[in-house]
Amino acid sequence: MDERPGSTARPARRRARELEFGGAWRYAPAPEGTEHVAIAERYGLFVGGGFVAPRSRRWLPTSDPATGRQLAEVAWAGERDVDRAVRAAAAAFPAWRRHSGDDRGRFLFRIARLLLERAREFAVLETLDNGKPIRETRDIDVPLAAQHFFHHAGWADKLDLVFPGARPEPLGVVGQVIPWNFPLLMAAWKVAPALAAGNTVVLKPAETSPLTALRLCELFQQAGLPPGVVNVVTGDGATGRALVRHPGLAKVAFTGSTEVGKEIQRAVAGRGTALTLELGGKGAHIVCEDAALDQAVEGVVRGIFMNQGHVCCAGSRLLVQESVHKVFVAKLLARIERIRVGDPLDKNTDMGAIHSAAQLARIRELCAAGRAGGATMHQSRCALPGRGYWWAPTVFTGVASSHRIAREEIFGPVLAVLTFRTPEEAVAKANNTSYGLSAGVWTDKGARILWFAERLEAGVVWNNTFNRFDPAAPFGGYKESGFGREGGRQGLAAYLRFPNGLAPG
Ligand code: NAD
Repeated sequence: MDERPGSTARPARRRARELEFGGAWRYAPAPEGTEHVAIAERYGLFVGGGFVAPRSRRWLPTSDPATGRQLAEVAWAGERDVDRAVRAAAAAFPAWRRHSGDDRGRFLFRIARLLLERAREFAVLETLDNGKPIRETRDIDVPLAAQHFFHHAGWADKLDLVFPGARPEPLGVVGQVIPWNFPLLMAAWKVAPALAAGNTVVLKPAETSPLTALRLCELFQQAGLPPGVVNVVTGDGATGRALVRHPGLAKVAFTGSTEVGKEIQRAVAGRGTALTLELGGKGAHIVCEDAALDQAVEGVVRGIFMNQGHVCCAGSRLLVQESVHKVFVAKLLARIERIRVGDPLDKNTDMGAIHSAAQLARIRELCAAGRAGGATMHQSRCALPGRGYWWAPTVFTGVASSHRIAREEIFGPVLAVLTFRTPEEAVAKANNTSYGLSAGVWTDKGARILWFAERLEAGVVWNNTFNRFDPAAPFGGYKESGFGREGGRQGLAAYLRFPNGLAPG
């Protein structure tokens, strides 16, 4: 009989797990079939290979944004808890780095396979804790997270080949802080390369979406990962602050807002701690007059409405060539009426719940600023559920580059439409931002794509597509979108040192 928490376990076994986590299982509804996803009432910190109660004795609630219903309580890690986790990671480091690359790869392969075996359970849990539609967690978040473990499993024994002559070495204990918008995927982006390179980890998930990172710890146990190689401390900004300031860290890897990224940069300055920052964005999505307009509409919808717009690289500024502006906007406004907003666990839903009350308040405030600034707001007339946090797909036309909705990251399903006459004007407008994470170009001409790609100040430039991710492709930003890359050889290099000084070629 399958005894995993995602299955219908016998009561005796269930009792054992209750003791392990210090709480009783409750069952959340699953979208289809009879399988259920178990959620403990309380989760401890994952330190030294097991779940432990926090020394702080504090707990934080985590809720389902679609209903407001509390799902569980997770431990709040204070300074002493963070210190305990860093010590566990430091104690595990010497043995972990001595494992052959082949061995480390095997652990990563096992984690990837287990994640795929339990894919449905992870997809449901992520949807419940985050609010994003099950179609996305099932088809994007979970498979991509597994792909990151597979990809880095393949690198673990090839570090000398990928950086020839550079004698790569792991850094030590890495502190990793992640946001709430892709909780499982961001955990995979951080943990997989760190372990492949031979580091040990203390990971801090976001306070409002910690459940899949904690569930990942069960996979680490199942895969037989040595205790202390990955530790997970849950908590809020104060926990993150305690972690990034801990003197035992060789590296800090942060994904989150630009504001917090700047604070972290100041906190680690002068300590010799390696740092990578993946921060906010205000991506420009450029549609030229020669583009396949119907396909471009689909790309623009994916670019801004995927994950309710809670995407750092969202195409939140649409730049349309003037000659096709009218027809394109008409198609787009007709298309947003067909976006199905509602129950995230329904597999037909396109757009789920806004992640939190705070995020909804920010979206409201910026939409109000857009209208006050003279832009025209168009919203889908879809019916929104009565409970939870919701915002209809929104498009602003008549937007000027100086408007707040064209400059500030809204992090919601809100698109600001601007126009351009020439490609030069499109590039100037696209680069007129303090961010530089992503951009997209729709055109029929290959030469024009290359022309744009050379000039756009963005870490990622998608051509005739948007919001596609691959572990082999480095991802990261320019300007206030951060520095360092995740994915590809560059992402791996960010978790290594090269003692003979040879920069990786
Ligand atoms: P946030 O910066 O508020 O929080 C991110 C994480 O940092 C959370 O775990 C939080 O608890 C922690 N934190 C908060 N204050 C801290 C501090 N002073 N020191 C250390 N840790 C601290 O961001 P958020 O609201 O969770 O996420 C949204 C932001 O993340 C957006 O700006 C988005 O663009 C960005 N993001 C960027 C990428 C990328 O790859 N560039 C990916 C996803 C999200």
